Amino acid sequence: MAVDPGEGIVTTTAPKSGTDTVTVPRGAESVDPATLPVRPGEEPWTADEVHELHDELISDLERLRGEIDAADAAIAGLMRDSNDGAGDDQVDAGTKNISRESELALANNARDSLAQTERALERLEGVGFGICESCGQAIGKARMQAFPRATLCVQCKAKQERR
Ligand SMILES: [Zn+2]
Repeated sequence: MAVDPGEGIVTTTAPKSGTDTVTVPRGAESVDPATLPVRPGEEPWTADEVHELHDELISDLERLRGEIDAADAAIAGLMRDSNDGAGDDQVDAGTKNISRESELALANNARDSLAQTERALERLEGVGFGICESCGQAIGKARMQAFPRATLCVQCKAKQERR
């Protein structure tokens, strides 16, 4: 009986998205400070404050991309070492597994932060920056300056953490 070689083969190696697309920032000049929301009682955003926040997000992007590259290089090095380390003793191999796992965890954390930072920059240059994703109210200038990647207002964040 002939078997179609294409049948039954399921590939599960879907590439992890998020790091392949590179955000090209349009620059703080593209942001109209007057369109950024503030909470009642807060002063409107100024162009300087937008610039400062924009710069911070850009330098975060660069730092995180550097961290990911460094972690990827370290992981690649550890993989190589463990492949030709046939003569390694158990303890040495175990140590290498641990450092590979911690490098992977570092790289994953950095990827999460990078994705959040890219989204924050997109929102800042596009729409939605400083608007709570849950209740639609202004997150507040002070909070956005402290946490530029925030997507929830203080109240909704607290609610989420209680769940
Ligand atoms: Zn909210």
